[in-house]
Amino acid sequence: MTTNLTRAASCSDDYDPDSMSVDKARKYIRDYLDPVQTREWLPLRSALGRVLAETILAPYDVPGHDNSAMDGYAFNADDLQPSGRTRLRIVGTAFAGNAYAGMVDKGECVRIMTGAVMPSGCDSVVMQERAEVENEAISFDPEVKRGQNLRRAGEDLRRGQTVFSAGHLLRPADLGLIASLGMGEVRVFRRLRVAFFSTGDELASIGQTLGPGQVYDSNRYTLHGMLARLGVEIIDMGVVRDDPVLLRIALAETAASADVILTSGGVSVGEADHMKPLLGELGQVVFWKIAMKPGRPLAFGRVGNAHYFGLPGNPVAVMVTFYQFVREALLILMGQPEPAAIPRLPAVCVAALKKVPGRTEFQRGTLFLDQDGAWKVRPIGNQSSGVLRSMSEANCFIVMAEGCGNVQAGEIVQVEVLDGIV
Ligand code: AMP
Ligand code: MG
Repeated sequence: MTTNLTRAASCSDDYDPDSMSVDKARKYIRDYLDPVQTREWLPLRSALGRVLAETILAPYDVPGHDNSAMDGYAFNADDLQPSGRTRLRIVGTAFAGNAYAGMVDKGECVRIMTGAVMPSGCDSVVMQERAEVENEAISFDPEVKRGQNLRRAGEDLRRGQTVFSAGHLLRPADLGLIASLGMGEVRVFRRLRVAFFSTGDELASIGQTLGPGQVYDSNRYTLHGMLARLGVEIIDMGVVRDDPVLLRIALAETAASADVILTSGGVSVGEADHMKPLLGELGQVVFWKIAMKPGRPLAFGRVGNAHYFGLPGNPVAVMVTFYQFVREALLILMGQPEPAAIPRLPAVCVAALKKVPGRTEFQRGTLFLDQDGAWKVRPIGNQSSGVLRSMSEANCFIVMAEGCGNVQAGEIVQVEVLDGIV
């Protein structure tokens, strides 16, 4: 990235800042990211949502011993009667955490609980519901097989195997898996610091009285929410007027304290007059018109050492561009080389959609399970990029490819699921 972004991009054959496809923009962005390098040790619980900075190898087998998957009776399958019922004498009990110490001989079995170590001489467990107990013996029918209800040592993790590679984002199951190895601390990359501010003379902050023609700044709240979900350190710099002096101060201040700067507003054709020269002076920033709707203007590059994203001001466009460009970039910057994409799935569209070919569209929709068992999507009524309510009502984007035109009701469309994921 420290190579000249503006020059490198414009040297590419098919580089057209005024008509940049979503995929191409994503690729340019990916090529100019310098992920966080600093590492720190964290107690396991605090590492949720953080990215591992080193590979974890299993120091032991998990489980450490063969054990029972069921409450039942452990025995040796050599005793199985191929036809007719098998009868075995109960010689003792094995509890989880309290093994049966003796050897189990021919014709014998041990009462065993889930998780208890398999007694010597046993290789199978018949579940208690299938065993008939009479006096100090059991009998069961011939369907029971060798190795049944046996959990093998190392079945979950084998000693020496790679449990996670560096760059893995830690989820709840991962914390448990690491705990199963007895590890209480993990080495992770430090938290990414993301600073943001809104630009616009028309913006008022909450607590201020709205003047004529003013609107409350909502972008800082959606941005805060989206960033919080990613687990980054958030630095909210407030609202900055469309004034070159104030914008310069804000950009210089954020560049000194953050890894990433996000701004909203001020990058559209009619508005970039202040931002363009400033960003040219303080760093290297390209201004793109992305072939997408909503979210056409986007600025990307560096201000000082910080990565910079200039998002459009429209509240819906902020969210769409965040999910399409910023989210992936932040996950990479956090230390994940290959972040999982937001799932994209086919669904039946229950209403006609209007679209002109030439731009990728991200219409807002509600994905629902219909009575006929199929997943269907209903577009939200008002698709204007200023109507933030459409994002609140939606649980998915209907992604319409650049080349595609109108969609008839009943056609299959691609949806990106937002609920609970982002
Ligand atoms: P801009 O990209 O600055 O031209 O802004 C486009 C539209 O988004 C205008 O209607 C702005 O009033 C609106 N807008 C810009 N920033 C915000 C914000 N932080 N909160 C709410 N609306 C905004
Ligand atoms: Mg503006």
